[in-house]
Parts: sequence; C-alpha cells; structure tokens
Amino acid sequence: MPISRIYGPDDFGNPVHRRTTGQTRARVTDAERARALPMPSLEWTPEVERATAHLYEKVKNVIPEIEWPFMAPYIKAINDLKKQRNAVILAHNYQTPEIFYGVADIGGDSLQLARETTKVKEKIIVQCGVHFMAETSKILNPDKTVLIPDSRAGCSLASSITGADVRLLRERFPGVPVVAYVNTSADVKAEVDICCTSSNAVHVVESLNSDTVIMLPDQYLAKYVASKTRVKIIAWKGACEVHERFTGDELRSYRAADPSVQIIAHPECPPDVIAEADFTGSTAHMIDWVRNNRPKRVVMVTECSMADNVQAELPDLEIVRPCNLCPHMKRITLPKILDSLIYLREEVTVDPAIIDKARRSVERMINLKN
Ligand code: SF4
Repeated sequence: MPISRIYGPDDFGNPVHRRTTGQTRARVTDAERARALPMPSLEWTPEVERATAHLYEKVKNVIPEIEWPFMAPYIKAINDLKKQRNAVILAHNYQTPEIFYGVADIGGDSLQLARETTKVKEKIIVQCGVHFMAETSKILNPDKTVLIPDSRAGCSLASSITGADVRLLRERFPGVPVVAYVNTSADVKAEVDICCTSSNAVHVVESLNSDTVIMLPDQYLAKYVASKTRVKIIAWKGACEVHERFTGDELRSYRAADPSVQIIAHPECPPDVIAEADFTGSTAHMIDWVRNNRPKRVVMVTECSMADNVQAELPDLEIVRPCNLCPHMKRITLPKILDSLIYLREEVTVDPAIIDKARRSVERMINLKN
C-alpha cells in the first residue's frame, strides 16, 4: 500500500530538534588514565608477523601486502589486550576488513549483533560500529561496560528523530502502534512498541495485527515495507545519508554496460534504486544471497566496506562497488580500538529509566517468532 504522507519535525512545530550524536570527543580523562594499561609495542617484528599470519590469509584479497606491517602490530596488541581486559569486540559489516576479520570476535548486521550481545560472557563489550549500536548493547547488557572507540560515530537516521518526536506522533495518531528501526537512539526505543531491523521489518509490522502502523525513522525502509504489506504505514522523514545517494540512473548505466550483471540493494535505498535491483534485502540477506547464488558479477548497492568483507570471503566473485562510505562507521579505526582497551574509553551510558523501557522494545523484536 503506497504511503500517502511522510511526517517530520516541522509537522509538529517542534522547535527543539535535538541531535543525538556528534558530540565533541573528550580528551582522555583522569579516571581513564588511572585505569590505563601500558601502551604495547607497535613494531613490526617476526613475532607479530607469525601471530597475525592466519589473519592476513583472510584479508589478503582486499588488503595489499605492503599495508599489513602497519596494521598487524595494532591487531596483535588489540587481540592481546582483549584477553587481559576480558573484553569482546563486536563489529558491524560496514567496518573495514582489518577490523572485521582482524580483531572482531562477532561480526554481523544490527540484528545479528543485537542477538549475539545477549550471549556474551565477557565483562567489557567494545562496539565497532556506530553509537546507537553501542547503546543497544548497553540496553541489553546493563551490567557490562560498553565502550565505543569514538563516540562521534553517529548515524543520520538516529539523529533524525527524538523521543519527544515519538510522543508527538502518538498524540497525532492515538492508539496506532509504533515500530522503530534499530537505527535510533535509546530515548526513541524507550517510546515505541517494538523495534525492527531491515531483515525483519515486514514481519514486525505484520506481527502487530493493526491495519495502520507508524514506522520510523527511515522513509525509504518504510516505503519498501509498504510495498510488501497491506498494512497502512505512517512514515517519518529520516534517511540514511549513505544509501540515499545511490540513484536508479547509476544502476541503469551498470546494467547497460553489462546486461548480465546482478544488482543487489539495501532497502534503505530510494525506490528508484530498489526498482532497478534484482534482489533487495538487509545486509545479512545480501550476503546470504551472494553466497547462495554465486553470480559472476554483482553490483552491491550498500556501504563500501561490506563489499570488501564479502570479497575477502569470496575471492572469485567480481564485485562492482558503487562505493559510498559511511563517514560515521569510518571513525572507528585500529588505533582508536587500541585506545579503548588501554584506557577503557569511551564508555557508553544510558539512563536506567530509559534502559528498562528501551529493552522491552528491543527484546520484543528479538523474541518475535519467525
Ligand atoms: S550507513 Fe547509514 S544507516 Fe548505517 S550508520 Fe551510516 S548513516 Fe547510519
């Protein structure tokens, strides 16, 4: 069912449209310095080469040999410190290969990371992703220390809406259930009925047994879901600044150059992009589609590092990368992950009153039967 209107902060005359990310990164505090471990050696030695050789095997198709001596000392130091700190590293698919394959214990999309985080035994979680993902880990693990290597790693979707906006939407549409994409801040999750990811959005919307559902904040994901269900969707004006940049024209030019090419796109893309795609699915579904279908050439219409990570796993696949980078994901680097473990920074905290409410909407999604 097509969406008739998309709402945004202007519809409510909401003067305080607070951005939830983008804060200035603080210097190392005295408290962080007090609990710091010594800085390990970052030299390229035969021992480092031996200790990281198996990891280089995984990324040799996407990281030139000449770059490895600069990365490997960080990777070894991070992996050693992880054990010393009793920490686990989670990495989103949009992290670069040296992080995704070099230091992460668990990798995946938002839903996979949210599910896995509930099973971790370690006391410290280092989230290599963006701030809302680290908040989700904290919401699900309030007793653990959750660190993000750079708290400025935000998200255009998460910063497009606040909890106050959700309350205004509820006043405008009383009784209509609200679904929030996981790409939202904790205060938004605390105000909604259930969360969703791009993997399960249609299923979540239909599980509510309502003829109308408010779905926020991604207008393009909402349009995609609306095209797959009879439920009437009320959408919000947010967009992913990475996926929004792709165009149908761009994809048509790839198809014109090679009519046999397969195009796969993320549902955060605009409708004219989805219309050109042979397959549309979440990050995890795109990876599964490539593994199962093994096309000769594929255009991956999503964040660029994901194509690198898939290429590392499937070296024979020819991937065309329209290549839009997420500037927020790229704030996470090996030196910052090392700092995180040395100084135990930057700690992600969420107000306990918000945690309890937000956890209900995340757990309701996780517990939803397929
Ligand atoms: S890729 Fe888009 S949705 Fe994902 S973190 Fe970056 S801005 Fe947010």
